[in-house]
Amino acid sequence: MKLEKPAEVLLMGPGPSPVHNRVLKAIGQHTIGHLDPDFLKIMNRAMDLLRFIFETKNQTTFPVSGTGSAGMEAALVNMLEPGDKVLIGVNGVFGQRMVDVASRCGAEVIEVNAEWGRPVDSGELEKKLAAHTDVKLVGIVHAETSTGAQQPLEPVVEAVHKYDALLLVDAVTSLGGLPVAVDRRDLDIVYSGNQKCLGAPPGLAPITFGRRAMQKFEQRKSKVQSWYLDLSFLTRYWGEERFYHHTAPINMIYALYEALAMIEEEGLEERFYRHRLNSGALVAGLKALGMKPVVEDQYRLPSLITVWIPENIEDAEVRSRLRTEHLIEIGGGLGPFKGKAWRIGLMGNGSQRENVERLLRALSDIFNQLGHRCSLEEALSEAASLYQQQE
Ligand SMILES: *Cc1c(COP(=O)(O)O)cnc(C)c1O
Repeated sequence: MKLEKPAEVLLMGPGPSPVHNRVLKAIGQHTIGHLDPDFLKIMNRAMDLLRFIFETKNQTTFPVSGTGSAGMEAALVNMLEPGDKVLIGVNGVFGQRMVDVASRCGAEVIEVNAEWGRPVDSGELEKKLAAHTDVKLVGIVHAETSTGAQQPLEPVVEAVHKYDALLLVDAVTSLGGLPVAVDRRDLDIVYSGNQKCLGAPPGLAPITFGRRAMQKFEQRKSKVQSWYLDLSFLTRYWGEERFYHHTAPINMIYALYEALAMIEEEGLEERFYRHRLNSGALVAGLKALGMKPVVEDQYRLPSLITVWIPENIEDAEVRSRLRTEHLIEIGGGLGPFKGKAWRIGLMGNGSQRENVERLLRALSDIFNQLGHRCSLEEALSEAASLYQQQE
């Protein structure tokens, strides 16, 4: 039985994001050998494109074979040895996942917690660093996809480097949608994932390691617990030597390459601006439909918007109607937000005015059917006024 053609659902959830036809075509190109000279050129160019998007000169910049979580795991297994102390900011699901992975590496984990929907407080983080001066690494999530909160990075970098620790940043939902700026901000290790703001299908986790991180890696006393993710093998495969380690997912790399080339063509600033503009318009429209954003303006992500579900409106009912009647996917809440908030992604190619308007239309239609009166005209005009202001 052949694969059935999947429905053309508009992806406006927490990822994956819509994949452009150009990228889908790239993935269907002829598979060549992973040590073929033509493929080596593609690898080199893909690494250059990644450096451009991470805004770094770091030599060790490549895509890990695996999804965003593999990037998280690659960062932690390579940097940590049993008994190392790490500090992790936890204000949602992904900070919590970092804690889990770090503790599986045998590290002693100290958490800095913050309320869901709020960033981690850098003052509190600094206090914990002062109390534990032997912390080797601090992990923080730049864009918490479970809550829609953005972490201001500058004060965190300052505190972490003052105590001579390494800073690891999860940029899965920020890279390609808002500035990550690895070198300018002096971030030590940063990973991301294909399927959020980069606009490729899930399957690769771009990662970059700076000089300080590589020095620490070289000082390791024990073997990296994961054979597959051991940086000493991966850098030999992605480096000059082209030493065989595992077979790179050739066609996924075609896809990532094409998605990155599209970002280069658009330009980073233009792309960041597009993400800000569309998220601003969406929020204005959602407010007009009677919804409140979860995150305060100054910390709200442009790539993922969380809103409280209006009273007397049932979460699952609305999401199921969006999918069946309007072919739109949005995300439900996780943890304390389950049943209370929606997560709406405007990531990569998904961040478009027509998608903003299509979702506002669909939500207004469903709300009115469910007896929650709201005006579509008002929502569209609130959104339109943002587009006018900023054009
Ligand atoms: C999606 C996501 C991940 C995990 O990525 P997968 O591709 O699902 O493995 C990690 N961190 C953040 C912030 C994410 O949004």
